[in-house]
Amino acid sequence: MTAGGMFMAANRPLADNGPSIFSACEVCMYTAIGYAAQSATAPLAPMTFERRSPRPDDVAIEILYCGVCHSDIHQARNEWGIAVYPLMPGHEIVGKVTAVGSNVTRYKAGDVVGVGCMVDSCRQCSACQADLEQYCLAGPTMTYATPDRVDGSNTMGGYSNSIVVSEHFVVRIPAGLDLASAAPILCAGITTYSPLKHYGVKAGDKVGVLGMGGLGHMGIKFAKAMGAEVTLFTRSASKAEEARRQGADHVIVSTDAAQMAAAAGRFDFLLDTIPVQHDLNPYLDTLAFDGVHILVGLIEPVDPPVHAAHLVMKRRVLAGSLIGGIAETQEVLDFCAEHGISCDIEMLDIQNINEAFTRMIAGDVKYRFVIDMNSLK
Ligand code: NDP
Ligand code: ZN
Repeated sequence: MTAGGMFMAANRPLADNGPSIFSACEVCMYTAIGYAAQSATAPLAPMTFERRSPRPDDVAIEILYCGVCHSDIHQARNEWGIAVYPLMPGHEIVGKVTAVGSNVTRYKAGDVVGVGCMVDSCRQCSACQADLEQYCLAGPTMTYATPDRVDGSNTMGGYSNSIVVSEHFVVRIPAGLDLASAAPILCAGITTYSPLKHYGVKAGDKVGVLGMGGLGHMGIKFAKAMGAEVTLFTRSASKAEEARRQGADHVIVSTDAAQMAAAAGRFDFLLDTIPVQHDLNPYLDTLAFDGVHILVGLIEPVDPPVHAAHLVMKRRVLAGSLIGGIAETQEVLDFCAEHGISCDIEMLDIQNINEAFTRMIAGDVKYRFVIDMNSLK
């Protein structure tokens, strides 16, 4: 890993606009390289594959940086049971436009852009029409391990030197954001920003963030920027000082039953980023009446079961939230630029991706690995 070289690499000047890895050819395909898993038990390894040439509404992108999300691990290891192999993860992508299709109006070669978790949707249903493509009634096309809507090919994510994406699913990286630490905003950022916005978190609200990893540390920053009084729930007492540096006002060690009990009835919102099954009941008890517990980390069954009394007796809400729409993804990038918010990253050479997965599972990253795609060359 190249932790020491992080800022040098992050500030690497962009190459000029040519020669690009793509031409504007609309019939040929392009050879790309990346790291993919061939099965749920195989480590990620280099793979050569074809990217389509830009369709009329497509943008071709040379990837500069890609964040490493815990979802990449869930998917590479088929922990959600929906993996398609070969599986090339990566949905926190920042890169430079190298070519555009003939109908593209918003981007041109050389623009610095981002791609998050989705690359397409039906674009017609009520969710898509409401800028909520993530809830597309026909199902969004995810950035990896999903059939492309046009040719049926398995989408390949951002652990790669390039990607080709419809213009609608491309966002602009605002000037002033460091490109490497902006990458995780495309998933960790939007996933935590969107529910806080949706539920109207405002000054004075008491927000608890569960787990301080990639999502959690962004959740702390956003809740703080929205004026909330922020508490981190963590298993790790050693994270207390760090959490305060991120903007948390208080820290509760979730394994300490006395600390949990002392927090009964305190919170308006809980943003739960814990990536494994865990007992929600003690957390629900820390909500005030009408409080909302928002799940973003878990898409497996809740186990142990929630005792309904925790909800019924205090009119509490147990909710979930999935990433955010494309317009809102642009909004969170702009919000970060405006408020000086960025992700804390550790830069990674792609050759160390399997070690990075192991370290993430052990909670040993502050707080997001970002692959420097220069290492792939
Ligand atoms: P990280 O691994 O970076 O962080 C997860 C944090 O949760 C850890 O730092 C740790 O915090 C806590 N944690 C980890 N293991 C346990 C455990 N066994 N028990 C209790 N707490 C634990 O993950 P990410 O932030 O990248 O992702 C979090 C989850 O969100 C993943 O499941 C991911 O798939 C999901 N996700 C959901 C999205 C959505 O749209 N809903 C989008 C993106 C990701 P601490 O040490 O402080 O306790
Ligand atoms: Zn993600």
